[in-house]
Amino acid sequence: MTRRHGRSQTHREIAVFEPYLGHDTLGAVARAFHERWLGMGAATREFEEELARFLGLLDRQVLATNTGTSALHLGLLAAGARPGVEVIVPSFNFVADHQAIVATGATPVFCDIEEQTLGLDPDKARSLINDRTAILLPLHFSGIPCEIDTLYDLAREHNLRVVEDATHAFGSSVDNRKVGSFGDIACFSFDPVKVITCIDGGAVVLPDSEDVASLQQGRLLGIDRDTVERYRNGRAWDYDVVRPGYRYHLTNVMARIGLSQLARVDEFITNRRRYCTLYQERLGNVEGISVPLTSYDEISPFIYWMRVTESRRQALIDHLRGRGVATGIHFMPAHAFSFFGDAPRGDLSRTERVSSEIVTLPLHSFMHEDDVEYICEVIADFFTKRVGR
Ligand SMILES: *Cc1c(COP(=O)(O)O)cnc(C)c1O
Repeated sequence: MTRRHGRSQTHREIAVFEPYLGHDTLGAVARAFHERWLGMGAATREFEEELARFLGLLDRQVLATNTGTSALHLGLLAAGARPGVEVIVPSFNFVADHQAIVATGATPVFCDIEEQTLGLDPDKARSLINDRTAILLPLHFSGIPCEIDTLYDLAREHNLRVVEDATHAFGSSVDNRKVGSFGDIACFSFDPVKVITCIDGGAVVLPDSEDVASLQQGRLLGIDRDTVERYRNGRAWDYDVVRPGYRYHLTNVMARIGLSQLARVDEFITNRRRYCTLYQERLGNVEGISVPLTSYDEISPFIYWMRVTESRRQALIDHLRGRGVATGIHFMPAHAFSFFGDAPRGDLSRTERVSSEIVTLPLHSFMHEDDVEYICEVIADFFTKRVGR
């Protein structure tokens, strides 16, 4: 283990996230500057078209936004979220989702997850449905699709809309269909740490039947007419305001960055799959931990996670930090936050257990396989030498 020694000398930590930023990324920024139109414009349009092409959208449309959270907010509004309406959502999720629900005036109802995918549990979701329920908001945690077919069956049965949080699953597929290319509404994020980044950005994908013009207005302060002009790097000077709206549009600069990342996304995904498969091979047999049991063939992995008994998690995290390996925790369950103390919920026993056991390991689009090997050795060491017992 020569690397361990090298690390302690240089103090270089292997970060949990390491966004890809290359000369091509800088070139994209420079290009946007040369185009002399910084705000939403033709590059935003081009980014939407390239997203549609990558996702393989046929009868669906895509709307780029300035964050994933705003994509979720607009997607929820399109699905009819409003005061008096309940949205069933996993507590095991980033709080952006719960706040997006709150922003519509609707009520988040915290639901448990199931053991395999750590996604929304269809049976427990069913038990939370009442006559105020209008929307299911499942998350494809870490890029591994949740039990989406069962959830769509449930939605059909009860006439619910589905807003998929696909922020972790850009490029993941279910039976050869990319997440977002089928179903109801899907939301993506291109924030600093996601598989591709716009620095900050997001997108909503909707069926053709949805009123996209209205959502375009919602994205730009309720302004009618302006989107079309802006897609040509122009501005409408006379316009109407026709609905409530937000400043949620994606600028040309961010879109150019997104386009440069999208051009390389297949390479990012191929690499990330390889690192996850290596983690799985090395960690699958280590006693004391469990790792996702999945084939990565159809998955675009966002994070790599493992589970360890609660009583040993902090010691493992400290052990890794001492050997130059950063870790994360995704997620602290939302129902435990003070703001959501009174939010309605079902049984959350699995959420509580998983969130006390889960650890996120480093995963980047470009890592050294040696680094993955090293991280796995440090973990194996912890368990075989019974560090911290
Ligand atoms: C990243 C993320 C979001 C929000 O996306 P932003 O672009 O950061 O606003 C929402 N939910 C989950 C689970 C995420 O990981």
